[in-house]
Amino acid sequence: MGCKLFRRQSSRVPLGVALSFAQELQKYLESLPEVLNVSLAGSARRWKETVGDIDLVVSTREPNKVAEQFVKHPRLSHILEQASDRILACSHLGIKVELIQVPPEEFNLTVFRDTGSKAHWLHLEQVLAEHGIIPELVQGSSVEEFEKGVYAALGLAYIPPELREDQGEIEAAVQGQLPQLIELGDIKGDLHVHTNWSDGIHTLSQMADAARARGYEYIAITDHSKSLRITHGLSEKRVLEQRKLIDQYNREHPDFRVLAGIEVDILSNSALDYPDDFLKDMDIVIASVHTGFKQDQERLTERILTALKNEHVDILAHPTGRLLGRRAPYPLDLEEVLEVAAATQTAVEINASPDRLDLDAANSRCLMERGGLLAINTDAHDCRHLTDMEFGVMTARRGWVEKNSVINSWPLKKLQRWLNKGK
Ligand SMILES: [Zn+2]
Ligand SMILES: [Zn+2]
Repeated sequence: MGCKLFRRQSSRVPLGVALSFAQELQKYLESLPEVLNVSLAGSARRWKETVGDIDLVVSTREPNKVAEQFVKHPRLSHILEQASDRILACSHLGIKVELIQVPPEEFNLTVFRDTGSKAHWLHLEQVLAEHGIIPELVQGSSVEEFEKGVYAALGLAYIPPELREDQGEIEAAVQGQLPQLIELGDIKGDLHVHTNWSDGIHTLSQMADAARARGYEYIAITDHSKSLRITHGLSEKRVLEQRKLIDQYNREHPDFRVLAGIEVDILSNSALDYPDDFLKDMDIVIASVHTGFKQDQERLTERILTALKNEHVDILAHPTGRLLGRRAPYPLDLEEVLEVAAATQTAVEINASPDRLDLDAANSRCLMERGGLLAINTDAHDCRHLTDMEFGVMTARRGWVEKNSVINSWPLKKLQRWLNKGK
């Protein structure tokens, strides 16, 4: 089966799928004796939410031997082009894999250039030429050290791959005003996870233990609300029963905090799935849309605005409902939603599941510029998915997000003050 057939279905795949395949190929290449070094380049190295091509750069003195082994990889279905230094292949995922082979002395520069984006690289080349700097002459013991050296030769701070889109990052670096991007290590808790009380697979204490094992200070348990029957949404009575378990866990683990939360459905008629009187006693409330996607833009926007204006709603989860490669965002006046979220100081979620990455990077940046707040949450239904946090943090970084704007980078005390303050 050729690439054409696959490509008609979708020419890009979600980053999560592309990255795990790229890592598999990278390991395979690293196992070949003729390979001196391998690096991912292209949009996957920049953590773009979907990937069209996987670009891998290999350092070797024996490209023919590497090529011979590479084309035999069982997940490559079809070789499209082959030259002495370059192979373009079609993969089982339907996306193309490009292998570039260079001698060791060209490796760092090739990875830098092929990481792109093209627009960033062209802009950078122009600035390098204006300053008479020849990147080939810059030394570096690794790709990152080399890249740092090139930017430093221009008097610039390091611009990480996820910012290289030529969206003002070179200008910001020239002015010494690159953002202090949030890092994975800044995250102090996850504010959206499910347990086996609704549609998660692990128990409440398993999820909390897994969060503690990641070094978090807190986690919010946010199972589904009662109308979402398919997920075994919780009745008010069940929520109160769960609360007892949370209190018990907190008594037994004074160094950690489980917040009693709920993911409350925004119903088709704009009402929330529990009355205000009930919501006011929750530690944290996240609101989201799971039904009625077929409503028109005006109705859907109105539902979300009503939730944002509710004084008990702390976070708007997966705001556009998209599933990458499977479901488009529902029709929404996102401009208005971000405006009202900022005005009401309701945090908007970057859902870190690689299937969602919702809010996306560009809109996260828009929200920041309006003075809004974000929460980066995994929405894990399985404790293994707490590791998805990295995808959310990288999406935030692509959106120039600094840690002060991310409520789950705050220490517990500060978060609780914010939660208790009301809107
Ligand atoms: Zn949800
Ligand atoms: Zn959820």
